[in-house]
Amino acid sequence: MSNYDRNTRSVSRSKKGWIPWLRRGIQVLCFLLVPSLFIQIWNSLKEVFMLILHGEGTLSTIAPDLVLLITATAVTALAGRFFCGWMCSFGAMQDLLYRLPRLGKKHSRRSVSERTDDILKVVKYSLLIAIVVFVWGLQLVTIPSGTSPWDFFGMISVFWNMPALSVLFPAFIPAAILLAAIVAGSFFIERFFCRYLCPLGAYFSLISRARLFYVSKPRENCGRCSLCSVKCSVGIPLGETNRVKDGECIDCMECVRYCPSANAELAVDERERNALAAGAVSCVLIAGSSYLGNFVSMQANAGTGSYMASAASEDTTSASETDTTAATSADVIVSGQAASSADSADVSSENTTAEAASEDTTTAATAAAASDETQAVASTSSGVASQIADGTYTGTGTGLRGTTTVQVTVAGGQITDISVVSYEDDQQFFSRASSTVIDEILQQQDVSVDAVSGATYSSNGIMEAVADALNVSYTPATVSQQGGPGMH
Ligand code: SF4
Ligand code: SF4
Repeated sequence: MSNYDRNTRSVSRSKKGWIPWLRRGIQVLCFLLVPSLFIQIWNSLKEVFMLILHGEGTLSTIAPDLVLLITATAVTALAGRFFCGWMCSFGAMQDLLYRLPRLGKKHSRRSVSERTDDILKVVKYSLLIAIVVFVWGLQLVTIPSGTSPWDFFGMISVFWNMPALSVLFPAFIPAAILLAAIVAGSFFIERFFCRYLCPLGAYFSLISRARLFYVSKPRENCGRCSLCSVKCSVGIPLGETNRVKDGECIDCMECVRYCPSANAELAVDERERNALAAGAVSCVLIAGSSYLGNFVSMQANAGTGSYMASAASEDTTSASETDTTAATSADVIVSGQAASSADSADVSSENTTAEAASEDTTTAATAAAASDETQAVASTSSGVASQIADGTYTGTGTGLRGTTTVQVTVAGGQITDISVVSYEDDQQFFSRASSTVIDEILQQQDVSVDAVSGATYSSNGIMEAVADALNVSYTPATVSQQGGPGMH
């Protein structure tokens, strides 16, 4: 072992030894617990843009998104891109792919020239601008669902989701091809997608340029090893600088870890700061805001297991008017208690037409039983339920992460109530989908409605479940309502 290697290892062990362990540990934890956090942040950015640019949504509906986005933005603007270096599971996947074939090897050289690197880095900023201007802003371009490699990665990163994967895979073939290309690139270029293609990375890069925390490495104390540049995950040429305030820096701390002179440090105002603490606090804040947003969303939706069509009910009976005092939206009455309880449909429909109608029928009918018992009813309705006998039917559909189960109540040839019995998708995505898609189904009396932007597969899962309950066919939505990039 050369003196050089000995020095590197001794500094690494004594002073920086815990940094890679903590970082890898957080990466693994995030991969297991919040694998789609990068999709959530991206969607949050989109939701906020849509509200500002087009008035779509309300502050209350995007509150969880807002909490997450503000926290991630504030942490990144102040402390830097710890999210990218320590938390993002898509980034962790790239780390793994790049390092696996190099296990046991010493320091690998840069694989892309500085000039090529500079040119390619522009691509992600161009992508970000194009999405913001042409997709979100002017809405001239619609990116169809099934093309996002992020979505596909989010789907396959949940190992227990294999049944859903097999059902959804045909719709994801373009995304799978793109992901395969990213995987291939990641074997040869470290953080290939982060460096050149990630629009969220471009956003983080722009907002982190004025960060307080930065890597300090006074050139006068440098040796001639250039090891910091060699080890930099995103190819920043550190040799020529005293401090790294580059937005490209993802705070991986590899330069700090490997500097044989212990010259590279995380610093604020030229004073060394504890990188372990900075990384851990940043991660806790961002993950905490995600859980807080989900919690708030769950609380807000705790009573939204059952959705009843007031308009439909008014057409069939005046009994539904007893519940209209609870209606805050124009067309939907939200009531009921536990979406996860099969009894919720019965409880919530006590004051509705559905209940009156259901008393004469089988309220616990299954989808299979429903199909057998479907009878023509005298009705003037032209909706999808016009030929279906009164009753409550159960059906299942496939969301992004698993099965969605609903109970659908039909009365007088109309769908009058849809209760979510259970679902396996992320709460944040599912809530966004359910509150709008069920409303649309009830209003249109159709099972094939638009998907909600940013929750396409949760939307399709709900539509499929309702169609299954009624034993009718439906057309999966491939384009979201807001013409967004269909991530998730
Ligand atoms: S640049 Fe994008 S993919 Fe890479 S770590 Fe950051 S958010 Fe994740
Ligand atoms: S400058 Fe250092 S902390 Fe920043 S990305 Fe490069 S190696 Fe990581």
